[in-house]
Order: sequence, then structure tokens, then C-alpha cells
Amino acid sequence: LLEVEGLTKRFGGLVAVKDISLSINAGEILGLIGPNGSGKSTVMKCIMGIEKPNAGAVKLGGIDVAGWPTHRIARQGVGIVFQHARPLHRQTVLEHIILALLPDSLLMLAADRHVRARAEAIAARVGLDRVMHRLPRTLPFADLRRLELAKAIARNPKVVLVDEPFAGLTKAEVDDFSALIGSFRAEGHAVLLVDHNVKGVAALVDRVLAMYLGEHVAEGTAEEVMRNETVRRVYLGGK
Ligand code: ATP
Ligand code: MG
Repeated sequence: LLEVEGLTKRFGGLVAVKDISLSINAGEILGLIGPNGSGKSTVMKCIMGIEKPNAGAVKLGGIDVAGWPTHRIARQGVGIVFQHARPLHRQTVLEHIILALLPDSLLMLAADRHVRARAEAIAARVGLDRVMHRLPRTLPFADLRRLELAKAIARNPKVVLVDEPFAGLTKAEVDDFSALIGSFRAEGHAVLLVDHNVKGVAALVDRVLAMYLGEHVAEGTAEEVMRNETVRRVYLGGK
């Protein structure tokens, strides 16, 4: 469903992502793992068209979308959960989901009952029904993460990119989010899950790709990747 081939992204002299390839099928979760600055978020941004890759292909259902604008890639069926959320100030939770549901040209239909009902269903799905009419800045951190998730899945994308969803959450919230992400897979979405920690996502992912300083380090099941020498040295401190 999603295939990335030979992706390279430079920022000036820095090669943030060097010749990375990956593929994810429908109903599969690929963990993209690496310490700070490995290039994980940059891979995601290149897939979503937020950054333009210097080289490589990003294929969605066989179509190379590398270099396309973000809104067109979204329309091809990709949703993204950013590492850092930046909600609008004046829109409620429900209004954020409604905006995410609609292509720009249809914004004037935002009051449509069907759209509203769908937005409410999405809010309920991610556990935001209790705070639907509140402004994001009044919400606890975990609910802001839920809102990002809701926006990403609003248009029922085939591929969901999730950047460090567990950072800053309690154990109970992590379990809750894991279950939600697992349910995306069960519905046939392809999920790219970025995290620092291979152990933390081992139970959730089908396969893992480990990066370090922009480069491919190891690939396989979580168990295989955790046994890899380089991974043990650079991520696990030799443990
Ligand atoms: P983290 O775990 O901290 O989120 P990451 O693996 O997501 O890290 P990236 O954010 O992809 O890493 O960054 C990879 C490298 O590219 C880093 O050295 C970063 O400083 C650099 N970088 C990322 N975005 C830009 C940018 N817009 N301009 C210049 N350098 C950038
Ligand atoms: Mg990142």
C-alpha cells in the first residue's frame, strides 16, 4: 500500500535521511524506531509532502507521489498525527474534527448535519465525546493527542502516519492509545508508527525498521531488531 524507495533528504549540508526504503501493507503496523535526530519525523514529513525529498520515491498504491503537495497526498488517502500538535485557538474539539473531515472547497457545508454526526462519531471513537465542545487549550495533554488522532483518521485514510504518540502519556493512556492504533490495523489501515523505543512498541508492531543518524540500521520483527548489535549499542546502551 505504501512503498518508500531510496528516500534521501538533506537540510543544507546535513543528510537527515539517507537512502531509506520501507513498505507497509494494509492491516499492518511498521515501527520506525531511532534515537533523537535519526530522521524519523523527516521520513514522515517526506511521505506527507511537508518536506520535499531530494531523491527517492513515495508510492501509494503504486503511484509515485514524491514531491506532491500535502493536500493532494492527503486526498490519496494518507493521514498524519504530528509529534507536536498546534490546535487552533477559537475552534472547539468538534469543529477541529469537522475541518479535518472536509476538503477546503466544502468548508461552507460545515454545519451540515451528516458531517456533524460523522465528526461526533469520530470524537466518540477516540474518547473525546465528553469534551467535544471545549476549546483545545482547556484540555489535558492526552486529550490533545486524541484530537490529533481524530483529525488524522477523519477522512478514513488508507495510510496513517503516527509520530511518537506515546510521549508524555501515563501508562494507562499509553495502553488506551495502543488499543486505538491496534484497532486501525484491524480495520485494514496501514500504520507507520514512529517511536524512540523499540521495547515500548514491540507488542504493537508487526515489523520494525531501525534508523540511526539518517541511515537504515536494522529491519525485522521487534525481537530481531532488539538483538541487532548496532541497535543494542546505540539505542539500548549495550543492555
Ligand atoms: P526526534 O526523536 O527528536 O523527534 P527524529 O528522528 O524525528 O528525532 P528529525 O526530526 O527527522 O529526527 O531530524 C533529523 C535531523 O534533521 C536532525 O538532525 C534535525 O536537526 C534535522 N532537521 C529536521 N528538520 C529540519 C529542518 N527543517 N531544517 C534543518 N534541519 C532539520
Ligand atoms: Mg521526530
